[in-house]
Amino acid sequence: MSFERKKVVVLGAGYAGLQTVTKLQKLVSAQDCDITLINKNEYHYESTWLHEASAGTRSYEDCLYPIKNVLNNEKVKFVVAEVTKIDRDAKIVETSNGSFNFDILVVALGFESETFGISGMKEHAFQIENINTARRIANHIEERFAHYANASEKDEKDLAILVGGAGFTGVELLGELVEKIPALCKQYGIDQSKVKITCVEAAPKMLPMFSEDLVKYVVSYLEKRGVEFKIATPIVAANENGFVVKVNEQEEQLYANTVIWAAGVRGSKLMEESFEGVRRGRIVNREDLRIDGYDDIFVIGDCSAVMVGEGENKRPLPTTAQIAMQQGEFTAKAIKQLLAGEKLSKFEYVDRGTVCSLGSHDGVGVVFGKEITGKKAAFMKKLIDTRAIFKIGGAGIAYKKGKF
Ligand SMILES: Cc1cc2nc3c(=O)[nH]c(=O)nc-3n(C[C@H](O)[C@H](O)[C@H](O)COP(=O)(O)OP(=O)(O)OC[C@H]3O[C@@H](n4cnc5c(N)ncnc54)[C@H](O)[C@@H]3O)c2cc1C
Repeated sequence: MSFERKKVVVLGAGYAGLQTVTKLQKLVSAQDCDITLINKNEYHYESTWLHEASAGTRSYEDCLYPIKNVLNNEKVKFVVAEVTKIDRDAKIVETSNGSFNFDILVVALGFESETFGISGMKEHAFQIENINTARRIANHIEERFAHYANASEKDEKDLAILVGGAGFTGVELLGELVEKIPALCKQYGIDQSKVKITCVEAAPKMLPMFSEDLVKYVVSYLEKRGVEFKIATPIVAANENGFVVKVNEQEEQLYANTVIWAAGVRGSKLMEESFEGVRRGRIVNREDLRIDGYDDIFVIGDCSAVMVGEGENKRPLPTTAQIAMQQGEFTAKAIKQLLAGEKLSKFEYVDRGTVCSLGSHDGVGVVFGKEITGKKAAFMKKLIDTRAIFKIGGAGIAYKKGKF
């Protein structure tokens, strides 16, 4: 009797997809199934470090490593390609590098920037979306400073940076910018008092996941270092001069030559094209992370929406690397159960807390229910970042790329 091995195809090598594969390759033998991992690039980048790569406080090379270095090539086939179509019923994935049939599919295509239809935002603002967009932001900031230093007619806008959004990403970016600016000013002989960093936030409260005390700590830290906040100030457009904001029902132009949008993400656009019931690139999972009507398709990471709470309080968990990695580990075990014909368990998210960095030496956070600030928070953040690398890449990658 011939035994045909099941084809497991994993799309995306971010936290969710790569964690699935590195765990699965430990759980199954080469005879159990064929595993194919498909990713746009030959490298994995740390999405949670994109604020550092964007500000230039960490080189983009330090935020990535080759995917092949963490794969067991006897068990996993790695394909560098862009996924262009998922045919869920025909069980075929089309890519820029051929088509792939699957018996079990894991969709982990991650996030993209969401500009909520704000006019000009896509064209005129940088997006913190992936390692290449981050690298472009860092290069651009440095170019503007160099231009200012060398120009005979100085343009103050070269030293002005606008950040849209005072959520987690916006604040972490500001923390890195205030760390980077003194070094850039020194390098180009620029008077630091001329640099203007403004953060614009539409909501009345920034960092909604943290208490008033932690938010006060963040604001005081950043204001002391020159950041100006415009809270409860909606951005209505972006243009070649900067942001147009609304103040007391009047439109006002804010000027800058560096404009960064850090206020929204959504799941991959391929989600809407491939599945029904998708909202902003996210689909609601079943308890075992598969999706309704498809016992052979898992959707995890930022493309998924794990619902928690009851009735009116029912809401999706936020999109985080912490959840994506836990989903990846769960999915690897679930695939093993599926291959063995066993019943799948229920995904239970364990919230270990959240730490928001303010550069490399400060921060705020809640860890196991306890609020922390300052050096303690910065230390915890480095620990979390290094643990994430270790969990996916093992000791070798953690040693090379970890934050010690
Ligand atoms: C600046 C910043 C700071 C953050 N800080 C934190 C934090 O401190 N803690 C936390 O928990 N979370 C944080 N997050 C959120 C976290 O980064 C995301 O929730 C996490 O990256 C989601 O993981 P993922 O695997 O779903 O997607 P991703 O990390 O986006 O990975 C998706 C992968 O799929 C690939 N891909 C996408 N489309 C295609 C395609 N069509 N074909 C082939 N490959 C494709 C991408 O190249 C990528 O490798 C932060 C995010 C940002 C931007």
